[in-house]
Amino acid sequence: MKLGLATVERVVDLDPFALGLSFLFPRAQLDDLRPHAALLAPDHVDFETGDLLLGVQSFVLRVGGLTILIDSCVGENKERGRRKDWHQRKGTSYLRSLAAAGVTPDDVDVVLCTHLHADHVGWNTRLENGRWVPTFPHARYMIGKAELAAWQTEEVRAPGVANHGAYADSVLPVIEAGLVETVTDGFEITRGLTVLPLPGHSPGQIGLDLDYGESRHALFCGDAIHSPAQVFKPEWTSAFCTNAEQAVASRMGLLERAAQDGSLIAPSHIRNAIGFRVERCGCDFRPSFVCEGA
Ligand SMILES: [Zn+2]
Repeated sequence: MKLGLATVERVVDLDPFALGLSFLFPRAQLDDLRPHAALLAPDHVDFETGDLLLGVQSFVLRVGGLTILIDSCVGENKERGRRKDWHQRKGTSYLRSLAAAGVTPDDVDVVLCTHLHADHVGWNTRLENGRWVPTFPHARYMIGKAELAAWQTEEVRAPGVANHGAYADSVLPVIEAGLVETVTDGFEITRGLTVLPLPGHSPGQIGLDLDYGESRHALFCGDAIHSPAQVFKPEWTSAFCTNAEQAVASRMGLLERAAQDGSLIAPSHIRNAIGFRVERCGCDFRPSFVCEGA
């Protein structure tokens, strides 16, 4: 999909990734979503099973001569015993899908980790002769400064426990390879592409604000919005958010901005679309999906 001089496409690692609605959002009731079934089914909510349907994917953003991978999904060979569909995956199609998008691992200039949860950093590394090595050896891996600091503190407190042990197998090896650059709010990766603070889901989650010309913006927002269901229910916070109040504030900020200026919101777990625009309906919001090829 073209966004001004930039292009963006999705490279899917796992789809669908189904989670029970009330497992992900403890306050949620399926009945609250029924009035919006025409927009949410069948791609985003399975009203038969009560599952939310997510995708686990990277965005490949080409802008300013850079190839930028936003989030690196679940990966392969990772020990994720607490989650069956992430555990010891083999022979997945992720790198082939990346190749189909015209990108080899050597081509990636920047890996932007919106946050350090296990489903966003998995392909940071791959297993080679029993060692974790960077999958993208020429990339700068950009991580929010506050995000990295928070999980490093947690790692000292309880090694290997948080995030399914993803720090040790998917973050530390890229730090040791000298590839990590920490970034803070407002950092400009290239002209028109700026780091956006989105704390709450994790301590220092970041997104990207792409200004693609004539004041049109795309907001890559990580897990500040997990599902379009939260456009209707922004107060629903996930069971995995570290600070519920902050998470709601980050989400409301995105929705209010998008309703005002027409920004395209691109969440990491969106399915069958690049993202959505938002309009106000009275006090509420309503998404309109933007698909590839649009
Ligand atoms: Zn996630």
